[in-house]
Amino acid sequence: MSDESINYDVVVVGTGNAACCAALAAVETGARVGILEKAAKRDRGGNSALTGHIRFVFNGLEDLRPLVKSTTEEELRRLLERLPRRTEADMWDEVMRVTNNQSDQDMLQVHVTESLKTVHWLASKGHDWVPGSQWNENILNPNGGGWGLQQRHCTILEKLGAQFHYETAAVDLIRDAHGRVTGVQALSPQGHVQFNAKSVVLACGSFEANPQMRAQYLGPGWDMVRVRGVPFNTGDGLRMALNIGAMAHGSWSSCHASPQDIDLPPFTVPSGVIHAEKNRYMHPYSLMVNTNGERFIDEADDLRGKTYAKMGRAILTQPGGVAFQILDKKARTMNLYPPNYAKATTAKANTLEKLAQELDINVANFVRTISEFNAAVPADLPPFSTNVVVLDGRSTRGLAIPKSNYTVRIDEAPFEAFPVRCGMTFTFGGLKIDPKTAQVQHVAGRPIPGLYAAGEMAGGLWVGNYASGSGMMAGSTFGRIAGAHAAAAIH
Ligand SMILES: Cc1cc2nc3c(=O)[nH]c(=O)nc-3n(C[C@H](O)[C@H](O)[C@H](O)COP(=O)(O)OP(=O)(O)OC[C@H]3O[C@@H](n4cnc5c(N)ncnc54)[C@H](O)[C@@H]3O)c2cc1C
Repeated sequence: MSDESINYDVVVVGTGNAACCAALAAVETGARVGILEKAAKRDRGGNSALTGHIRFVFNGLEDLRPLVKSTTEEELRRLLERLPRRTEADMWDEVMRVTNNQSDQDMLQVHVTESLKTVHWLASKGHDWVPGSQWNENILNPNGGGWGLQQRHCTILEKLGAQFHYETAAVDLIRDAHGRVTGVQALSPQGHVQFNAKSVVLACGSFEANPQMRAQYLGPGWDMVRVRGVPFNTGDGLRMALNIGAMAHGSWSSCHASPQDIDLPPFTVPSGVIHAEKNRYMHPYSLMVNTNGERFIDEADDLRGKTYAKMGRAILTQPGGVAFQILDKKARTMNLYPPNYAKATTAKANTLEKLAQELDINVANFVRTISEFNAAVPADLPPFSTNVVVLDGRSTRGLAIPKSNYTVRIDEAPFEAFPVRCGMTFTFGGLKIDPKTAQVQHVAGRPIPGLYAAGEMAGGLWVGNYASGSGMMAGSTFGRIAGAHAAAAIH
């Protein structure tokens, strides 16, 4: 066992987006920063390296211009035709809407009002953005997606002198006699290493990759769910902080889990990146049935980016944890499929009976479900929207479970079905932080000296559901705040 001891001003745990933003903010003050990462270097970057887009406030062209390098004025104007703005009030309302007004309003205030400033700060550090895809609600994506963002983060930090320690998992927090956090015990291939620091930032994800914690907090069935992201986020930071009296916060019984191809692997790591390949987000345009041939949820009670994160739970509770997205020829002629459906597991047939037989769906129920659905499609519906940021109000009439938007009859062969399962993205339970400093709060009602947290580890923003692109934004904002305050506290 190694008895090595290494000293820094600030130790940051994790190399995801929240950790890198914290490290950037700390290093820009001149602090000596050490970064611990459980994964090997090739798999650095956490779930952040698997992402595509980021949701931030913008009021028009002027706000976007500083973020892009190679996108022309003309291209920006075209993007703004689809999505002219997202004001602070819009972003606030979006989060309150998806969380049923349960988001922590102090956290949300900071999340909303700091978002544009934070993406501009990231641009000032060397990041840039490119046009977002028509398939999501966010106007610009980090150049190279999350993978590109994370590689740039690490290169920038290396140049600024931050030290990375890979294959080094934080296992415990070290405290002095006054309760101040003074470092981290870690496990490296050489044995235990003690990292001493004046402040510690925990940004090592939530507990989505820990089956025991999933079952404990989310409930039965969640232990066996497949994870869309990295296997490294096993709740270590939460455990370490709770062990020294940190306050739990937010929704520990809910999570972000979305419809994924039936052949989703158990985990995905950044070096084997298959970003978005397995996402099956055609639910708003489809009819979803279970193996009994029955619908179980309104497929389109809101936009795609505001419904996908709650769909996983609904699918998990179906028999066998499986559902089928059903579409007909019109979806092809209307060009509704995102490119990743080209590689989807699928079945196609010229009759509904054959489609159901092929997939072992109860045939009689399935045919009845589709015929009742078709009969509930009113003749006087408004025009269909192919713009995923616009709800079209094309709702069924008279069904026990309505379909509230994008309704069209399923009546033109060939019929297609896409079998989907629940894919765990990340869990919402986290620590209570002071939103203005990201300092972790003790159950005694006081901040824990020397301890900060950000990213998935900070609880409160998300409850039951989530709006696409928000995780990367929250990680950037609270990561930056955590790093700045952790560095300020060393003096
Ligand atoms: C497939 C996928 C796609 C997604 N797409 C989007 C998207 O497009 N937009 C969006 O906003 N959000 C998206 N999300 C959610 C987003 O990834 C998270 O909200 C965000 O990345 C969280 O950042 P983080 O820094 O908190 O965690 P992470 O990026 O996961 O970083 C945590 C880091 O901590 C490390 N770690 C864990 N335990 C330890 C330990 N004990 N010691 C040292 N290191 C440790 C991990 O290895 C990892 O590097 C997606 C998630 C997944 C899984």
